[in-house]
Amino acid sequence: MKQSKVFIPTMKEVPASAEALSHRLLLKAGLIKQSTSGIYSYLPVATRVLNNIETIIREEMERIDAVEILMPALQQAELWEESGRWSAYGPELMRLKDRHGREFALGPTHEEVVTSLVRDELKSYKQLPLTLFQIQSKFRDEKRPRFGLLRGREFIMKDAYSFHIDEASLDTTYNQMYEAYSRIFKRVGLNARPVVADSGAIGGSHTHEFMALSEIGEDTIVYSENSDYAANIEKAEIKYTPNHKDEAAATLEKIATPNITTAQALADHLDKSLDEVTKTMVFKVDGEFILLLIRGHHEVNDIKLKAYFGTDQIELASQAEVYNLLGAHPGSLGPVTDKSIKVYADNSIQDLLNIVVGANEDGYHFINAQVGRDFIVEAYDDFRYILEGEPLIDGSGPARFAEGIEVGQVFKLGNKYSEAMNATVLNDQGKAQSLLMGCYGIGVSRTLSAIIEQHHDEQGIIWPKSVAPYDIHLIAINPKKDEQRELAEKLYGQLTQAYDVLYDDRKERPGVKFNDADLIGLPVRIVVGKNAGEGIVEVKRRDNGEGQEVHIDKLHDYVDELYEQVN
Ligand code: ATP
Ligand code: MG
Repeated sequence: MKQSKVFIPTMKEVPASAEALSHRLLLKAGLIKQSTSGIYSYLPVATRVLNNIETIIREEMERIDAVEILMPALQQAELWEESGRWSAYGPELMRLKDRHGREFALGPTHEEVVTSLVRDELKSYKQLPLTLFQIQSKFRDEKRPRFGLLRGREFIMKDAYSFHIDEASLDTTYNQMYEAYSRIFKRVGLNARPVVADSGAIGGSHTHEFMALSEIGEDTIVYSENSDYAANIEKAEIKYTPNHKDEAAATLEKIATPNITTAQALADHLDKSLDEVTKTMVFKVDGEFILLLIRGHHEVNDIKLKAYFGTDQIELASQAEVYNLLGAHPGSLGPVTDKSIKVYADNSIQDLLNIVVGANEDGYHFINAQVGRDFIVEAYDDFRYILEGEPLIDGSGPARFAEGIEVGQVFKLGNKYSEAMNATVLNDQGKAQSLLMGCYGIGVSRTLSAIIEQHHDEQGIIWPKSVAPYDIHLIAINPKKDEQRELAEKLYGQLTQAYDVLYDDRKERPGVKFNDADLIGLPVRIVVGKNAGEGIVEVKRRDNGEGQEVHIDKLHDYVDELYEQVN
């Protein structure tokens, strides 16, 4: 393709609001253009990369017998009411009305549509297993669209759904998907790692996320250097090993702690370390208040709370509710109370004997509070985030942290949607049975960004060969000079037989051309310049700059060799 004919609006300066490196490079290299917050046009170069990623995805899906379909993005509210998600999904769901006032959503995901599709068509277990996939734009009214394509409000997803008569069949497809995802991310050049993830409060389902390691990642991965263990921090369980302090029981005492409302200030005031004091929080679980006691240096993990109580309906009580309940404000709360309110505590509270807690009176705390004597703990469990360095649940450890971008997720849904939406088939006994389902997503546009996060340098993008928009960048330094233009055009004609070539035929200054070429980042560059008359051109790899001047007689062999070496 001649560059003069392609639309690649590279930029010198990008808006400061573009924080993520991939976002800046996507704008700078002229790959995307923002339409409005979280909504982008993909320009020609990005479109080519997306096509390459999608081709790899399609190949790997077909390899495991998943078949491609395309479902509507516009979904009638009735379907979402059947599954219960019209109300449960919340403000992320883009809702709209047609001219008759009938309600619709722009699909953020397709469990409802696909379940209604198969329930009408699948009659017998003999038609199973079945896996359907599509590649399509999804819509989510994200609270904070950001980082360019990493968190958009309209984005491209590959979503797949599988249907089964029994767990064994679901397990098989889940494992095949897991392997296919591993291959896909490897093939597109991503260093991505599968991690154990949270499957939500309802159902003991099973799920993995695929995390592309990157500093910009919004997720924290907890992993072990000594085992295969890797989990999203939301899910990373903590192995509790008792570590009681050797101390004598002391008498409960109320002390004045004026203006002290944080655990750190409390610890400083008492000349203790943060882990020796506690925090008490009030949560509303399915509408009922509970107290949660954790140590000063820990943070509550609400995903673990939801899993423990088996509900999504958990929220921190408001200041007013707390005051109403305990007669004090957050910062002075504690478990010692005559109100009948259940107290739950993190496992590590068991290590404390004489405990520092709020006195439920603003400006006062208790020291030496004791479980059993001064308050009762309903249950101890793992209610907090793991800290770096702690032992891991698989017995390996210590926990190490890394940041990651969730590029994909595989999920065993079980019969959640099929039960709600009455999707059954006849089993081998001739009885109607709910389908079992799996769902599997890849953020295609997010993957594009993640690849850039992992493959770039100061000057621009360095595309892995497998997804590069073109293989070779052929640059005529000064196409106004006949010998340069003629040689470049001859080479262009020859090289395009074996490669996708972007030929920079523009009448721009050399500096502009080189800058743009660095930004666009094609694997191999061939420069036709002042030695064109002698038939000599310069060939260079984008990734490590290796290459040399070559006579055109030897060019094809040399380019083949160099291209072969690139990753
Ligand atoms: P996140 O936790 O990042 O919001 P999610 O878990 O809600 O994502 P899924 O429902 O699992 O997302 O969607 C499948 C895939 O789609 C994700 O793994 C991710 O790669 C991609 N994705 C989700 N939300 C967005 C978004 N707003 N912009 C771009 N890609 C997204
Ligand atoms: Mg996900």
